[in-house]
This record gives sequence, C-alpha cells and structure tokens, in this order.
Amino acid sequence: MSFSKLGLSDTLVNTVTELGYVKPTNIQSQAIPVILQGQDLIAAAQTGTGKTAGFVLPILEKLRTSETQRKKRIRALVLVPTRELALQVADNAARYGKDIGLTSLAVFGGVDDKPQKEKLINGVDLLVATPGRLLDLYGQHAVYFEEVEFLVLDEADRMLDMGFIEDINKIISRLPQDVQNLLFSATLSNKVRDLAKTAVHNPYEISIAANSASKANIEQWLISVDKDMKSSLLSHLIQTNDWDQALIFIETKHGAAKLASQLEKRGIEAEAFHSGRSQAIRAQLLEDFKVGKIKYLIATGVGARGIDIENLSRVVNYDLPFPADEYVHRIGRTGRASASGEAISFVSRDNFKNLCMIESRLGHLIERREVEGFEPKKPIPVSILNYVPKHKRNDNEPR
Ligand code: AMP
Repeated sequence: MSFSKLGLSDTLVNTVTELGYVKPTNIQSQAIPVILQGQDLIAAAQTGTGKTAGFVLPILEKLRTSETQRKKRIRALVLVPTRELALQVADNAARYGKDIGLTSLAVFGGVDDKPQKEKLINGVDLLVATPGRLLDLYGQHAVYFEEVEFLVLDEADRMLDMGFIEDINKIISRLPQDVQNLLFSATLSNKVRDLAKTAVHNPYEISIAANSASKANIEQWLISVDKDMKSSLLSHLIQTNDWDQALIFIETKHGAAKLASQLEKRGIEAEAFHSGRSQAIRAQLLEDFKVGKIKYLIATGVGARGIDIENLSRVVNYDLPFPADEYVHRIGRTGRASASGEAISFVSRDNFKNLCMIESRLGHLIERREVEGFEPKKPIPVSILNYVPKHKRNDNEPR
C-alpha cells in the first residue's frame, strides 16, 4: 500500500514523501479512505501509530478544494487534552499542509489569550485547541463555529480522564449539525463509547492492535536531553519523584562507577553492577536490590544479563541500548507478573537513528515528555516510524 493509493492528491503525497514517510501506517491506510469518503469514524489507536497524519491528511485534502473562510471562522476543529499535544498536532498540520496554503493554529490555556485572538481574526483553516481555552475564546467572540466542517476528538480517553466532558459537550452543541466527526482514543472504554454516542454518528470503527513487542502494562516514555545533563536529570527524577526502585542501564563499566559517585555526591545511594566486580559482590548487590536495601542499581547491559527480578517497577535507559531487541529485552524486566512498570529512556541527539530503529521494532513511537529545567539545547528531531537504515534502503525508495 502506498500513499498515492489512498485517494490523496499528488501535492500531499509529495509532501509526506519529502518528510521521509515511505508507506502509510496501519491506522493511516484504514482511516484516510474512510475520512475522504465523508464518514464519521471512531478509532482505537495510541500515540505513535501515526494517527495524527491519519486524520490531518484527509482533512487537508478535503479543505483544499473548498472555499476559504470568513474572519474568525474555522473549518476544522481538533480538540486535544494538553498544550503539548495541541502544539504537536498543529506543527504536524503545518508541515503536511505547507504546499497547499492552508492555515493552522494551536490554542491552549495557561498563556495570555491575546496573541491567540489576534491570530484568529483572519480565520484559520485548522484549529487545534484544548476545550477550556476554546470555550473562553468562543465566549469572547474571538471564534465562530458556523463554518466548521470537521471535528476531531483526539486522545478522547485522556480528555475524559482530565474532566473535559462538560466542555466537550458544550462545544459539540454549538457546532453545525452536519459536521464530520472523528474520534481517536488509546482505548475504547465505556466512557469513551458514551461520548461517541453523542459525538459520532454511525461511525466506521477501526482498532489498531498493540504490538506484541510492547507489553500493555509497561508505560514507556523518553526524555530528550543533552548528554552532559543526563546525570543531573537522573538525580532530579529520583529526588522529585521519590522513586522506590530503579534499575538503571548504562553503556560502560567506567560510566556505571562514575554515575554512582555522581549520585552519591547528591545524596543518593546507588551501586554499580558490572562484570568488573566480583561474583560474590554482584550476588550480594542483587540480593540487596531485591529486598529493597539498595534502591538504585546502575548496571551495564552485559553485566545485567541474567538479572531476574520479579515486579521491577522501573528501568531507566540512561544510555539507549543497541540493537533494538536489547531495548525490548530490557523493558521486559518491568511489569512482570501482571504488575505495572515504567521504562524511561534518556535520549540525546546522537541517539536519534538508534531511537528510530527501536520505535520501528516496537511498531509505535515512544511517548516524549519534557522535564522542566532540562530542555535540551540539541533536541532530537521528530521521529520517523518505519525507519529504514541507510544500508538497507531500496534505491527506489525516497529515503
Ligand atoms: P502520532 O503521534 O501517532 O501521530 O505519530 C506521529 C509520528 O509518526 C510523527 O512523528 C511522524 O513523523 C511519524 N509518522 C507518521 N506517519 C508516518 C509514516 N507513514 N511513516 C513514517 N513516519 C510517520
């Protein structure tokens, strides 16, 4: 399946090809034709499956052929739970729409609304908004809904968890009757299905199965961080979150010893676990870690082979592992025996290709989170799902 077979115009196909997308993801091949046909849609798909392009591309395709809007009018509305997601979706829309001259904007709370109002004056084709701020702007007559053709509820489950149901219902009741409604959610819980009953009519339903490489009970996320900030980031996370336990993976023996002493200087007791320490010491460290005498164990990948600890609550990839299978192996240590766990990776810019390979292996992207005060000077670029390393690329493929 290629993008050109989905019913998108050459302009949009060329844009995504330029962005390095070789073929549509699963959600994209299913959602794009349905949306282009004008049907309502409800889709179970997590972040990282390519769902944003799954709805933005067909919406742009349909908007490009119709008339422009009047002042303060919008034509597509995407509701999202958070400011981060609003910025991310608007940024994707700007990139996908760069050659078709449509405008997009993100509005969200917690910041001055004046610049947002100014940007709305001339009308916006695609508006991405958090529900509360959108209602504020609507109440101030900064935006009108009568030209809205598309409503997207993105990460619907999270919006419900965050208590946005009333705001969402208010917004829906103010939209025109004939809006095409699209709902995306990581899970289709009863609460989400109830919302769907009011928001989505006779929908086409899509469910993208979670990839077996990622166990559902492991929460995976990464932090884009400059290399020289990793050790203070780790101390910060341990101290502010009061972690009960963490198995921290690092590349080298020397690195493990150095990190242990850096943590110690900041008042955190941690032990280095690697093949340079005797078998007896390692056995003792492991025992102490298991019973909670040692909370933080810093291990090299090689040294940690064979560590078998039930119900480990957290692994940290201080250094990102290579190859991708090693990542899957490491995160498999958490969340055992149906307990939940988290796997956190520190990723600096020179890990970018390695990250893409890991995400391709998983079949989805790893959620990115920012930690205040540790914003990188050299951030990692936007991930490429289905990344193909250079030496494996087919010459006919665009990247
Ligand atoms: P999501 O948050 O699920 O929309 O995932 C979006 C990420 O996947 C973005 O960073 C895109 O760069 C990437 N992406 C989306 N579609 C594709 C595709 N067909 N091929 C490669 N990467 C993609």
